[in-house]
Order: sequence, then structure tokens, then C-alpha cells
Amino acid sequence: MKKAIYPGSFDPITNGHMDILERVAVIFDEVIIAIMVHRHKKPLFTIEERVEMIKTVTQHLPNVTVESSELLLADYCAKKGNPVVVRGLRAVSDFEHEFQMALINRKMNPEMDTMFLTASESNQYLSSSVIKEISMFGGSIHEFLPGAIHKEVEKRLHEIYLEVTNNGSSR
Ligand code: ADP
Repeated sequence: MKKAIYPGSFDPITNGHMDILERVAVIFDEVIIAIMVHRHKKPLFTIEERVEMIKTVTQHLPNVTVESSELLLADYCAKKGNPVVVRGLRAVSDFEHEFQMALINRKMNPEMDTMFLTASESNQYLSSSVIKEISMFGGSIHEFLPGAIHKEVEKRLHEIYLEVTNNGSSR
């Protein structure tokens, strides 16, 4: 059984993530999407919301499951028996960070290997943060998100925007 882990924040899952995921699901027998909890990052969507959204948009991919973890990725991988870690690469700017992460992860866990898939041309500019930024300023984001969740994400982002502007607080 060839097994892969696709880790990330998925806050929220975008068409860019889906592109990588659908290609990975063909290469591997089993793929775990791992929502990694970063202590330094403040997500907009809760873990439960992200898990639900991912379940909704991966219904057509029977070999894909979703989990979340607060562990270091190197430790999480070891716990899972060291499947291949898959990451998407957009532009050269992603490369440096990803290269560093792959090396440091291997230093911490020598059994861990990272595989990179290049983002499709049409998704090169796409990121969860760009989508959140556009939506919070009232722009349309439906073409960047899987059809099954775009309405829900738009609604939620609008609610969060109102919450933030009313409280004067930031999430
Ligand atoms: P992280 O905070 O760990 O980078 P993300 O959710 O932003 O988590 O990304 C998870 C993975 O998906 C990363 O490997 C990232 O490079 C990849 N990814 C994000 N957006 C795209 C995209 N538009 N096309 C291809 N891969 C992407």
C-alpha cells in the first residue's frame, strides 16, 4: 500500500489544494489530508469547520481521509509509519521555504521523505490568504473554491468580517 500525507493549514481548502490532491490520489493508494495546527498562525476557520469542508469536497475521492494534528509534522509522520509527505509548489518563492522544511524535517526524522508536485499553471497565484483578503473586501471568490463549499465559505468570511469590524478585534 502506497500511502501519502498531504499536510497544510487548508484555511480554507482551495482549488489549488484540490488540484494537488486529485493528482496525489491517483499516484497513491491512500492519502491522508493532515490539518496541522500551527501555534503561531491564527486560522479563520476552526479545525472542525475545515474537517467538514474537506470531507464535503473529497467525497469523490474514496482513498482520501482527513485528520488534524497538533504534533510537529516530523513526529506526526513517524506516528503514522512515515508515509511520503506531499507538498504543492507554486512559484520559486515557495521553493526556498519548502526546501528548508523538507531538510529540517529529515533532520528530525530521517525516515521522512517529502515529494513536491508543481501547481497547475492556472493555480499559481492562488492561496487561502489571498482568497480571504479578496472576500473580506467584498470581492467574489467562487472561482477559486470547490463548488460544494464556496457559498458557505463566502458567508462565513462575511460574518467574520462583520465580527471583526464590529468588535474592532482581529482574528
Ligand atoms: P501551509 O500553511 O502548511 O503552507 P497551506 O494550506 O497554505 O498550508 O498549503 C498546503 C499545501 O498546499 C502546501 O504544500 C502548499 O504549497 C500547497 N498549495 C497551496 N496553494 C496551492 C496552489 N494554489 N496550488 C498548488 N499547491 C498549493
